Amino acid sequence: VIQISGLKKTYASGESELTVLEGINFELMQGESLAIVGPSGSGKTTLLGLCAGLDIPSAGSVELLETKLEALTEDGRAAFRGENVGFVFQNFQLIPTLTAIENVTVPLELRGINNAEAKARQLLDEVGLGKRTTHYPIQLSGGEQQRVALARAFINDPQILFADEPTGNLDGSNGGHVVDLLFDLNAQKGTTLVLVTHDLDLAKKCDKVLKLRDGRIETEMASA
Ligand code: ATP
Repeated sequence: VIQISGLKKTYASGESELTVLEGINFELMQGESLAIVGPSGSGKTTLLGLCAGLDIPSAGSVELLETKLEALTEDGRAAFRGENVGFVFQNFQLIPTLTAIENVTVPLELRGINNAEAKARQLLDEVGLGKRTTHYPIQLSGGEQQRVALARAFINDPQILFADEPTGNLDGSNGGHVVDLLFDLNAQKGTTLVLVTHDLDLAKKCDKVLKLRDGRIETEMASA
């Protein structure tokens, strides 16, 4: 369901170009899970954004569910993501003026689907925030905001879930709970998972691990 070939990303840096990713190739089958690991600045977040169609590569191709993202317009990519993809950002990107439950229903409302409250409530319950549905992001701890972001990523029953450090701001028990949620979704619905993580325990749970160094794949391995 994911096919990445010859992926490259450069940023303009003054007169010159800064290459942050180069020569990236990999593929994932439906229901597989991949952890992207590597040192800070190695290109993990950039790669995740390209794979999810949030950003466009300088060269190469990203094919999700047999759709080549580079063949779509920006609006087309947004619509494709809305239907098929869930994304958890490193810094959550919750909307400050909306309550927890309103944040969770946003992706469906953008597609004109209303009445998603019951489902949003259930998801918030599942991430342990059943009593925080009317809180605004500023009234929630970092870990709670992260769990709202997860509930939001699940609201469209994504076929592929991308998450940047999904356990990064959570303590042991909350982190473990989020990991369980991710892998329950993976097991029950066959959701393909692509996770950026520094958490080696989480990486070990994934079928595959891709280690980046300086924008290139240093090692690609099947996890234990
Ligand atoms: P971390 O673990 O610290 O989050 P990372 O592996 O996710 O790091 P990226 O965020 O993908 O790394 O960044 C890779 C490189 O690309 C970094 O050197 C960063 O400075 C550079 N970079 C990222 N975004 C931009 C941008 N918009 N413009 C210029 N350079 C960028």
